Amino acid sequence: MTLEDLWTRLADITAKSGMKCGRTDKCKAECCRPAGIGGEPGVTPPEGELINSFLAKRKGFKFYEAGTASCKFLGKDGKCRIYAVRPTDCRVHFCKNDLLESETNCDISNLVDDYHAQHEAEFMATELIDSFRFSGEQ
Ligand code: SF4
Ligand code: SF4
Repeated sequence: MTLEDLWTRLADITAKSGMKCGRTDKCKAECCRPAGIGGEPGVTPPEGELINSFLAKRKGFKFYEAGTASCKFLGKDGKCRIYAVRPTDCRVHFCKNDLLESETNCDISNLVDDYHAQHEAEFMATELIDSFRFSGEQ
């Protein structure tokens, strides 16, 4: 299973299960703030490569647009600026209620576990997104 396969299958499962971000006015993208309820996502080397390719097409990209207390890719509008290539960790977090509790789904957990088992070295090289140095980042 490739990373693209994983992301496609995750999208299928989430669409079929009806899981989605339950974002309300109470949430200011809390999952995209390291100190927020989602914690900080990890980035594997292949995910970093895909993000770097995405960034290479965006000249003058500025990290930390929403401030240093946020994920470096969060926009001032509260949206992810690399949504199409966001890491797997960001694809598996769904709040089910106003308390911002994340919903779990065993099909998603099993799929991600299978992928990690197949790509153990990649998984072991995971870095937290704030530590990962992307192309063009100081
Ligand atoms: S997944 Fe949860 S924390 Fe993230 S934006 Fe949606 S409601 Fe907010
Ligand atoms: S990469 Fe995007 S979705 Fe993931 S934490 Fe950062 S802003 Fe949020």
